Amino acid sequence: MGNINVADRINKQLPAELVKFLQLAGGAAVQRQQRIFLVGGVVRDLLLERPIIDIDLVVEGDAIKLAEGLASLLNGEVIARSRFNTAKIRWERWMVDIASARSESYSFAGALPSIQTFCDIHSDLIRRDFSINAIAVYVDPLHFGDLIDLYDGQADLKKGFIRCLHDQSFKDDATRIWRAVRYEQRLNFKIEKHTLNLIERDLHYLKTISGDRIRSELELCLKEEKPQISLRRADELGILANIHDHLIFREKSFRLFAKAQGTLEPFSAPEEFYLALLIYDLTTEQLTDFTVTLNLPRSVARVLHETLQLKDKLPDLAGKEPTNSVIYGILHHFHQPAILVNLLVTTSFTVKKRLELYLEKLQHVRTTLSGEDLQELGITAGPRIKETLESLLEARLDNRINSREEEIAFIKQSKAS
Ligand code: ATP
Repeated sequence: MGNINVADRINKQLPAELVKFLQLAGGAAVQRQQRIFLVGGVVRDLLLERPIIDIDLVVEGDAIKLAEGLASLLNGEVIARSRFNTAKIRWERWMVDIASARSESYSFAGALPSIQTFCDIHSDLIRRDFSINAIAVYVDPLHFGDLIDLYDGQADLKKGFIRCLHDQSFKDDATRIWRAVRYEQRLNFKIEKHTLNLIERDLHYLKTISGDRIRSELELCLKEEKPQISLRRADELGILANIHDHLIFREKSFRLFAKAQGTLEPFSAPEEFYLALLIYDLTTEQLTDFTVTLNLPRSVARVLHETLQLKDKLPDLAGKEPTNSVIYGILHHFHQPAILVNLLVTTSFTVKKRLELYLEKLQHVRTTLSGEDLQELGITAGPRIKETLESLLEARLDNRINSREEEIAFIKQSKAS
């Protein structure tokens, strides 16, 4: 397939400010006698006419120096990472990544790559994951918009194929297995047959990847618009079982994820919610293995464990007419995400109603009297205050008292008895 020029698409699909930035960057690179390119996801999405979220540039030379020059022209700032010789330029509301073209080699499976910077764009493209992500676009003024497509990425974009660049790709970096699934499902593509065979052959290399890296792949997957389609595929290919033997994602999980999408709005961290759904059928011991394998932050592990603890307590909520204070007593130790996940999963109408009652009403009930008020009313400081506040709250929850006056009367009465 002949190469095309995508200058028109760049002008059409990118905001005018970013087009202007590209022209500026192209000019600045030429002045330094360097070549500069758009690469990776931005090119793929340009060609697919999909929305572009962020742009990545590669320069044949020192990215940090170039970024500093550009940032000063833009009154922006540079965040540099010298290990990979990459820089992020931030100005107004924009952010762009610039990296030095680099080649990579892997000393053993699962290792982070040894990096050699300041190579040419061809060597930089060779190190990439899939043909559709290995297309570069010239940004310098003379060739603006011309493509470099060494691996027939355009053809694979047309055919809808995820194809890796060489047979050692997944051995070099098994996180690409997760990436293959994500792109396949997001773009509604197919992993090409030979690539699929390589994935099956090299699946065990996933075990060579650190927990942190696998966790970040899983998180990326959970950030997709519909994580359930990637997870179903990951299950089908044996990728989930590579994290934990008992981790599965079948029809029930698929349904729950889809159901969650209608209710996720109030969550600041839907990934945590999804994780809790993912582990819902594990035992406590299996969950512990899972959290250790993925090196999950303690706060996340706590929510997951709470989810299972509450799952075990749900039968207590199904009992005949528990009082409000009993419902409160069962639930108030749990953080909201654990309760919400159980609310989503439970099939018991009664349990659901009681969880909702707690979330909507009971968890907000407060006594109007404080510990200090109780002391003024003659309760001695110490554990007695806590106990009295608890029985006051209980009475409030159960609607035995409904006003400050009734609270005071309650205290006087309990002191007298
Ligand atoms: P997304 O839309 O998911 O952000 P992206 O293509 O921008 O897609 P990034 O993870 O930001 O994805 O990576 C940018 C580019 O870097 C990719 O397009 C790919 O060329 C390359 N890349 C990223 N991770 C790897 C990897 N593990 N192995 C090889 N190349 C990679």
